[in-house]
Amino acid sequence: MDKKISEIFGAMVFNDDVMRERLPKEVYKSLTKTIATGRTIDPSIADVVANAMKDWAVEKGATHYTHWFQPLTGVTAEKHDAFISPVGSCKVVMEFSGKELIHGESDASSFPSGGLRATFEARGYTAWDPASYAFVKDGTLYIPTAFCSYTGEALDSKTPLLRSMDVLSNQALRIVRLFGDTQSKRVDITVGAEQEYFIIDKKMYDRRKDLVYTGRTLFGAPAPKGQELEDHYFGPLKTRIAAFMSDLDEALWTMGINAKTKHNEAAPAQHELAPIFATANIAVDQNLLTMEYMKKIAERHGLVCLLHEKPYAGVNGSGKHNNWSLTATGKNLLDPGKTPEENVQFLLILAAIVKAVDTYQDLMRISVAHAGNDHRLGANEAPPAIVSIFVGEELNALIDSLVDGTAYKGAKRAMMDLGIPTVPVFRKDTTDRNRTSPFAFTGNKFEFRMVGSSQNIAMPNTVLNTAVAESFRQFADVLEKAKDFDAAVAKLIKETFAAHRRIIFDGNGYSDEWEKEAARRGLSNLRTSVDAYKTFMDEKNVKLFSSLGVMSEAEMRSREEIYFENYAKIVNIEALTMIVMASRDYIPAAERYMAQIADTAAKKRTVCKDLPCTVEEDILRRLSTLNTQAYEAIGKLKAEESRAASVADAKERAEYYCSKVLPLMSELRTAVDEMEVLVSSDLWPVPTYGDMMFRV
Ligand code: ADP
Ligand code: MG
Repeated sequence: MDKKISEIFGAMVFNDDVMRERLPKEVYKSLTKTIATGRTIDPSIADVVANAMKDWAVEKGATHYTHWFQPLTGVTAEKHDAFISPVGSCKVVMEFSGKELIHGESDASSFPSGGLRATFEARGYTAWDPASYAFVKDGTLYIPTAFCSYTGEALDSKTPLLRSMDVLSNQALRIVRLFGDTQSKRVDITVGAEQEYFIIDKKMYDRRKDLVYTGRTLFGAPAPKGQELEDHYFGPLKTRIAAFMSDLDEALWTMGINAKTKHNEAAPAQHELAPIFATANIAVDQNLLTMEYMKKIAERHGLVCLLHEKPYAGVNGSGKHNNWSLTATGKNLLDPGKTPEENVQFLLILAAIVKAVDTYQDLMRISVAHAGNDHRLGANEAPPAIVSIFVGEELNALIDSLVDGTAYKGAKRAMMDLGIPTVPVFRKDTTDRNRTSPFAFTGNKFEFRMVGSSQNIAMPNTVLNTAVAESFRQFADVLEKAKDFDAAVAKLIKETFAAHRRIIFDGNGYSDEWEKEAARRGLSNLRTSVDAYKTFMDEKNVKLFSSLGVMSEAEMRSREEIYFENYAKIVNIEALTMIVMASRDYIPAAERYMAQIADTAAKKRTVCKDLPCTVEEDILRRLSTLNTQAYEAIGKLKAEESRAASVADAKERAEYYCSKVLPLMSELRTAVDEMEVLVSSDLWPVPTYGDMMFRV
């Protein structure tokens, strides 16, 4: 890289430095106060801020602005307006008013609303989120916004997230106040999302209709080599990939995104990028931008970035580890310190999180439920569909001693001596890592690992924030009234761990024993997304969100509807794609090959009557059987697919796709995948798994 990172970092972001430099002192103070306290902006300063933003953006080459939002499609949306405003009949000036900055109005009728908004009430509003910095990208000033209907219901992922952050901050403040923190005005929720992805050569990608239409391969026999040698994980980067990653880093740094770590992942052609954590809403916006840049920059290198949870069967899928913590006045509230047994505030917060995750296991599961993620969760490479918490040996022992009243012997942090004189001796971590846990404590943060690689992380964080806020609310209600605070806290911690300890599990989450043990403990095991969605509107969930003001019942119902609708749409597209590929590509390829070998056999016999034709006959027989199986499977799939599509109710439709259409898709795939290894490679119409994963 020829440019210095410090020079390019955040160059395209209207961040705090730019604001301080460009805004009048009073306006700057008012705006930063708005951001720091999460309050509404003073409308009188809006014009000044808008004008400064516009001047800065124009200097960066912008001609347009857009309210950037997160409709319930899972991707972001934007509509660009030019800054121009006519003066007289043949001149324009560049203008941008406070009103245009603060809110916008747009036609919302084509975004999913889950029945919240009838099509005739098409108006939707976008409202500026000043806490997430505006930025310039491709000649447009992007203003991160929330999106709601004419009647004020949230039509996006960001609004509930912002509400949940506010609720959690308020309830967490009540807790830290009880422990003598009089300074903090707000408790910050920090999130760092590690993003996994696959890379494929664009030329191969273009020849795979399944990747183009659905983001994953719907057919494909395993390559001779998979990930069994474990030679890809952390392996040296291929030149082309390294060049892509370097450009990606530079682009992200320019956008003020702290891209920090990059490495090869477990599966061939799989990689990961982790940023430095940020406040939750910023982390969400930045993760969405990161995904967008991954795709865009890959194209520049003749590559395609696959963000699907399971692009290839038989090797690891991609997830997004959502690291989450709480900070008050710069202090990480999830840092146990050297002696966690004496850190009562930490233990209370830990108890609150354990209670939250146990009580709302189903919501945690729903927040990551997505047709794509179903192929990953529980597939022996990602956490199972059962939600549990890993706390590590030391905390586990501590919790046991608290609940059972036994003595706690603090785990000694041993020194690590490798016996090599030149390598310094260092202190070991108190706990080893556990890779199989869906929700793991990793020293001073929790890592929620069930999130799918393609998903917006807003919902998982909204659920986590709200559930923990509810625990805090209940705790604060008790403790604020307590006469003997110390005794009350001790009792609360003990009772909470005793009641919710069942969710804590430090063993191997991939094992069959765990599934049985979890059932014995009464933990929920919602195997498919559809199973999970069905529990969304349970009374306790509606009560949680509506009582804390994060989502109303109507807003939840609309999301439930969209969950089912989306699921059905995704499987529908996959089924149709399979039908097209099998009918038009695979069956004809098998027919061509059969004709070729039948021809060979016939010719052989004309030349020499008794020449053995075992090879031709065996292949012909097997291929003919498989081709018939494929043909019949297409017929059945077509019939069930159209039956599924005609089910009127969204929930029943999703169920139909899940229980009836998916099994037929596997049936078709099995036949075709076996044909693939029989047909001559020059006749096979698409790149194989080996081509796609190893020839990047
Ligand atoms: P690992 O997952 O291997 O333990 P790191 O410790 O580097 O890796 O952290 C992974 C991710 O967690 C990074 O994105 C990092 O910024 C984020 N992270 C670290 N501390 C916090 C925190 N206090 N809150 C939220 N995320 C955090
Ligand atoms: Mg991690």
